[in-house]
Amino acid sequence: MSSGIFLTFEVEREKMVEFLIRCGVLHRAEVIEAFERVPREEFVPTNLRKYAYQDTPLSIGHGQTISAPSMIAIMLESLDLEKGQKVLEIGTGSGYNAALLAEIVGKAGRVISIERIPAIAEFGKKNLKKTGYGNVKVVVGDGTCGYEEEAPWDRILITACSPSFPQPLLDQLRIGGKIGAPIGHVYSFQVWKVAKKVGESEVRIRDFTQCSFVPLVGMYGWKEE
Ligand code: SAM
Repeated sequence: MSSGIFLTFEVEREKMVEFLIRCGVLHRAEVIEAFERVPREEFVPTNLRKYAYQDTPLSIGHGQTISAPSMIAIMLESLDLEKGQKVLEIGTGSGYNAALLAEIVGKAGRVISIERIPAIAEFGKKNLKKTGYGNVKVVVGDGTCGYEEEAPWDRILITACSPSFPQPLLDQLRIGGKIGAPIGHVYSFQVWKVAKKVGESEVRIRDFTQCSFVPLVGMYGWKEE
């Protein structure tokens, strides 16, 4: 993808979508449309807007990142998201992923996103509001404990690396529901895995791709150093 200094963000967005389709990571119409609609430049710090459509993670401060578009495409495609679903995201960050989720599940769906760092939660919430996704509920807290108040969830998406799927999140997933997360060690590569809950205490796990994420810090994740 070009750095696009002579292109409008709309054109850069179209080119990013074409690139992700060509790479084989974007397939389903619902996911493609979401990528076409959500303005990524509105979810990155102002000084990084010119890089918004490069396929790379970008810093959002406090040692955290917005993931690369190709990684987000893999994550969203792997979860078979559908209109009307209730989705819990752990790790709001910039809010970009939550906006894509809100586009995919539509008005009949529900997206709640939990972020542990208050200043980042505020950044994500502000970005969601200004781009018209104020219906996404952002909660400050430890997402490894889930969000019992609105469980069960059709889908749960963890956007930070975890040693394993946190038990409270598995408990809050409805039977037939899916949870995706980068599983592995913080200082090494992780694997994006999706677990389908097939019984009260039974899951089927599928591995997708190697990845590298910031740590999921919390009671059922990594401990703070
Ligand atoms: N989904 C985000 C986006 O669209 O920009 C990117 C998320 S970033 C890779 C991971 C985020 O997870 C960070 O903002 C980090 O603070 C957050 N995080 C880490 N541990 C968490 C926890 N236990 N609960 C909630 N958020 C957590």
